[in-house]
Amino acid sequence: MILDGKLVSNKIKEELKDYIQENNLEYGIAVIQVGDDPASNVYIKNKKKVAEYLNVNFNHFKFDLDITDDIVIRKIESLNKDKKINGIIVQLPLPDHLNVDKIINAIDETKDIDGLTIKNCGNLFSNNPGIISCTPYGIIKLLEYYNINLEGKNAVIVGRSKLVGKPLIELLLRKNATVTVCHSKTKHLKDYTKKADLLICAVGCKHLITKNMVKRGSIIVDVGINKVDNKLYGDVDFKHVSKKAKYITPVPGGVGPMTVALLYYNLIKKES
Ligand code: NAD
Repeated sequence: MILDGKLVSNKIKEELKDYIQENNLEYGIAVIQVGDDPASNVYIKNKKKVAEYLNVNFNHFKFDLDITDDIVIRKIESLNKDKKINGIIVQLPLPDHLNVDKIINAIDETKDIDGLTIKNCGNLFSNNPGIISCTPYGIIKLLEYYNINLEGKNAVIVGRSKLVGKPLIELLLRKNATVTVCHSKTKHLKDYTKKADLLICAVGCKHLITKNMVKRGSIIVDVGINKVDNKLYGDVDFKHVSKKAKYITPVPGGVGPMTVALLYYNLIKKES
């Protein structure tokens, strides 16, 4: 069965739109972009489309590639104070000369709708209310929508990034799964993936996960986005793995749309 991120994200967006209209609310977000990375342009365009659908004020600040940390941070500080701005996003990746941590942590934690500041990451791992990173949160919401019970399940995450893998550890523990994390230095990856009742792959390597690496009847969540010859592929060989899995997310149309929907969920609901 396909875990349809498009369908579920549309339902979330509809609920948010109703919530905004019924309560007569007004929201504004700011997106800070440095340079003109083509993938970032596409992600920003997608975020803008949803903002328009929800009637959220979308403010896009685009800086030249040679900008300094100080100028970006000053912009963030002024947005922190701006009452019309409820959420601030720094579109990643930033160019190498910028200090990503310093820039992200300049965002007021209540406006950090990507959930990436130290404060929100700390809140997550201390079980305090806070904003949860959109991609892992979107994955959890998708699994919840399909009533997938994770208690006692072997959950294997491939990828240990701050953005995806690490927050997932905590979110899956909250669901009482037994969590294993694999990464680039893991030896014999297949030994782990084969035992996974839930396999979440967030690496960025086309078709890293093949049919012989997964357990029959398992749940497969593919986070990877790999553009090859102008076509999008996940980290999972969907065509063959889907024959063996009980549930699987497609690429595109799985985790991607959930990520964008959860960004706006974080803006509007601000709960975890
Ligand atoms: P990242 O580069 O920060 O992390 C990649 C992780 O993969 C690392 O922890 C690394 O140790 C691990 N890894 C690398 N090679 C490996 C291998 N051969 N075997 C096992 N592990 C390996 O990336 P990220 O930001 O976490 O993103 C991962 C992928 O997910 C990318 O394709 C990215 O585009 C995609 N992504 C998608 C969404 C979405 O909304 N769908 C959101 C975020 C990221």
